Amino acid sequence: MIIQRVVLNSRPGKNGVPVAENFRLEQSTIADTVQAGQVHVKTLYLSVDPYMRCRMNEDTGSDYLQPWQLSEVADGGGIGVVEESKHHNLAKGDFVTSFTWPWQTEAILDGDLLQKLVPQLVNGRLSYFLGAAGITGLTALLGIREKGHVFAGANQTMVVSGAAGACGSLAGQIGRLEGCSRVVGIAGTDEKCSILVQEMGFDAAINYKKGDVAKQLRELCPGGVDVYFDNVGGDISDTVISQMNQNSHIILCGQISQYNKDVPYPPPLPPDIEKIQKERNITRERFLVLNYMDKQEASVLQLCQWIQEGKLKVRETVVEGLANIGAAFQSMMNGGNIGKQIVSVSK
Ligand code: NAP
Repeated sequence: MIIQRVVLNSRPGKNGVPVAENFRLEQSTIADTVQAGQVHVKTLYLSVDPYMRCRMNEDTGSDYLQPWQLSEVADGGGIGVVEESKHHNLAKGDFVTSFTWPWQTEAILDGDLLQKLVPQLVNGRLSYFLGAAGITGLTALLGIREKGHVFAGANQTMVVSGAAGACGSLAGQIGRLEGCSRVVGIAGTDEKCSILVQEMGFDAAINYKKGDVAKQLRELCPGGVDVYFDNVGGDISDTVISQMNQNSHIILCGQISQYNKDVPYPPPLPPDIEKIQKERNITRERFLVLNYMDKQEASVLQLCQWIQEGKLKVRETVVEGLANIGAAFQSMMNGGNIGKQIVSVSK
């Protein structure tokens, strides 16, 4: 059977900026028959995520991430519908997901590696299972619960960097739902800042590309910062850490500002900032959502409940067509739109 797929065309180099042309759309084939335990799926949605930048290098720098190989199909979070099944637990018409979905229009997959989805949990918005009700939402929720030390009534101020991104936009809202009394976001455009405040309930947002971030942060967080949800690292994080309180907590979610640089993960803090971190006893432990998958089921139900109740506002940008996935990835790495970036493959 003839299908379309997207392969890694070239590597950007460890210090290079990835571009759409690093990926290539091509025609390929899959088997016409489904073997025992397998399913034939049609791809509906694919996720583009910052961690994929590491997979474009020959060496990802992490033991849990495999590099993509040149001229081989890329993969990541995906959702599809079962067309034919020879797996005991899956039937034609079921919606399924996987973290390692191949970037192709149709595939024959091992049914044991797929999770069945219940569309009603997200009011039929299937793509949410790649974002707010998927790994992104889990990262925000479990990052806060496992590393944030947030207590209702404790009058804590949370700052979120990369606040308009998929994770950050949820993290600020969840910080509030979990009990923070003040939530301030940092994002790259006035429009994003305005959506964070008007629509997502952040108390304030700072455009880091305009003005003096340190000064604005001092004004907006007069009691200092108690919890910092860090998506970006670099100068922004150094500025936030300088204003953190004694015994406060960093949720070390990601360091997107460093992903096009050949530095270890997590990148070490500059000596003066590290001194502050140590003197003020600020925790900065590595957080990896995949280490908490025993909490996945209950946490997804919590996220879905908040979505249904309208307590968690979700934004996503859906790009149409597998051919555009490289461009969607490039755009996401350059800031993208507010919320989650998804590629729709069916149309
Ligand atoms: P995303 O949707 O692409 O959001 C990232 C945000 O960061 C964007 O809104 C972007 O917009 C901002 N940004 C990009 N480059 C920046 C820079 N150089 N300086 C400052 N801001 C920059 O990504 P995501 O899915 O939310 O992921 C966010 C982070 O979480 C990433 O670092 C990712 O690796 C990490 N993550 C970690 C885990 C885990 O288990 N620890 C799991 C999932 C994701 P603006 O610049 O316009 O504000």
